[in-house]
Amino acid sequence: MKTLKLLSLLYAFLAFIQLNAQTPERKVLFIGIDGVRSDALQQGRTPNLDTLFRSGLYTYTSWHLGITVSGPSWSTMLTGVWENKHGVTNNNYTNSNYNDYPYFITRVKEIRPTLKAVQITSWGPMSALVYNDGWDSKILVNTDADVVAAAQIQLLDPDLDVLFTHIDDVDAAGHGNGFSTIIPAYMNQVQTVDGQVRQILSYLRARPGYINGTEDWLILLTTDHGGIGFGHGGNTTQEKEIWWAAIGSTVPTQQISVNISNPNEWLNAPVLADIAVTALDHLLIGVDPEAQVDWDLDGKSWCIDPLDTVTNVSNLGAQMYNIRVFPNPSKGSFKVLIDNAEGKIICSITDITGREIISKEVSVNANSFIDFEETQLPKGIYFVKVTDEQNKSQTQKIIIN
Ligand SMILES: [Zn+2]
Repeated sequence: MKTLKLLSLLYAFLAFIQLNAQTPERKVLFIGIDGVRSDALQQGRTPNLDTLFRSGLYTYTSWHLGITVSGPSWSTMLTGVWENKHGVTNNNYTNSNYNDYPYFITRVKEIRPTLKAVQITSWGPMSALVYNDGWDSKILVNTDADVVAAAQIQLLDPDLDVLFTHIDDVDAAGHGNGFSTIIPAYMNQVQTVDGQVRQILSYLRARPGYINGTEDWLILLTTDHGGIGFGHGGNTTQEKEIWWAAIGSTVPTQQISVNISNPNEWLNAPVLADIAVTALDHLLIGVDPEAQVDWDLDGKSWCIDPLDTVTNVSNLGAQMYNIRVFPNPSKGSFKVLIDNAEGKIICSITDITGREIISKEVSVNANSFIDFEETQLPKGIYFVKVTDEQNKSQTQKIIIN
């Protein structure tokens, strides 16, 4: 197994060297913007983002299948796997498993060891509590304006290959004033971000390598979750419907639109886990990240890369089932709806320490309900975990109040 893994990496490395000699250097700029609802981005005055999106692949109907909290969400985007693998279910990053499921930077460096990658954020936990993330430096600053200023400096470095910038104040405006398109303070902050993205892109486009074509940048933009009222973390459409965009030579010019209320279409929505896989696909010429069995990625690449065999624009729908719990919050009686699973599954309820409280084994087909009646669970946060016969699992947070 070990030898096979080394051999496959060696082949990937040789393929990479051979192809890289004749093509521009692949690089990634990933701009993550915290807490921007999809409707807010569509309705806000964001001319720069609108123009940028139309030059690449984008969607306003990405669906968040995990926990709509920053820690788990950014972890999914940067690892390419869901929280049942990377283990992060909260902003304290407890139970994280970045050793088995590292950030995509760590994976790229298995094949491009000299790659230089930098993270800039004003959000402490993502800087301090993540390990095995592969960054050459993690820059922690105080404000979004500082993030933009630090990005300017980093983008002057000709050796820079991957830059991740995290912009936080839309989320803060939502918590402070309300996450809604009718809240001016929230919408103004979305508009501010549009200007900040324009600035960062101007620094990118001033790079000599960008201008003379020796560098081939993929620009990724997305948010980690939406929001409702003054917060997020739940399962409403306002929290789960998000957006993302990929712009560069390896992605098509196309809008992906999914009718979220149609269950069949919903399963085809682009998802967070696709982002790391798309970045890997762009950065690693001649390597199909989805075929790296030991990476065990959940997402799909959005690249149509003439140098790779990957040609799909798809999603995780086919390889992973989805669970929905309702009502959520509940008083103790709730239903678990499972899509896209077949055969015997185990559905268990655990508390926040991971202790199993209830467990049921049932047979399911295409769309099945599992009823939990009057569970008598004390008020609090719990997790519904569904595990199938192949030992694949999905977890959903529930609240009993
Ligand atoms: Zn937040």
